[in-house]
Amino acid sequence: MYRLRRDIVNCRKCSRLVLFRETVAEKKTRRYSDWDYWAKPVPGFGDSGAELVIIGLAPAAHGGNRTGRVFTGDLSARFLVSCLHEAGFTNQPNSDSIDDGLRMVNAYMLAAVRCVPPDNVPTPAEASSCYPFLERELKLLAHAKVVLLLGKFAFDSYLRFLKERTGHSPGGVAFRHGAVYSMQHSPTVYVSYHPSPRNTNTGILTREMFISLLWKIKSELK
Ligand code: SF4
Repeated sequence: MYRLRRDIVNCRKCSRLVLFRETVAEKKTRRYSDWDYWAKPVPGFGDSGAELVIIGLAPAAHGGNRTGRVFTGDLSARFLVSCLHEAGFTNQPNSDSIDDGLRMVNAYMLAAVRCVPPDNVPTPAEASSCYPFLERELKLLAHAKVVLLLGKFAFDSYLRFLKERTGHSPGGVAFRHGAVYSMQHSPTVYVSYHPSPRNTNTGILTREMFISLLWKIKSELK
């Protein structure tokens, strides 16, 4: 995991994303004007022997791209980690900065693309450039029994992983919040809307919906 982390953090393959992550870090935003932004790719975080693996989209401009840890320091992180804590997957309900003491409990989280993309949308070429990191990380997470996919981008990225692993696309699966799929050569797959403010502020994804999914997952694990 150390070598993977080093390779991710040093990556400069996507020129558009390198420029964007560094420009965001230079311009900052008023509330974080005194922060020294991370401005590099963001590796996964958590227990590498975890049974639960959570996959999101990409770091947020003033979240992971600022703090250097995935799902840290933005509203998606606040929603996700407080819910994970309620279901016993973290030691604390907040995820604010890299030194805030957060510990994942039998869980590991990562983003399918490691650099913040403009408007949160990586191009297909950028997604492909970053895909080998996802593949390497998932192969290292050998104890996973459940994969929780946050949003359509994570869902599609994971299907690509399965297709490349098995040589064929998994049939009979579709992106739908709450869907649970048992597939060959894969941990059980749980699907959720992404916990972005666009979903959580509009009631598309509520705490109750998300926590109830986490408790279902919890019941599958040790
Ligand atoms: S998105 Fe991935 S492949 Fe592209 S520069 Fe960042 S880490 Fe490298």
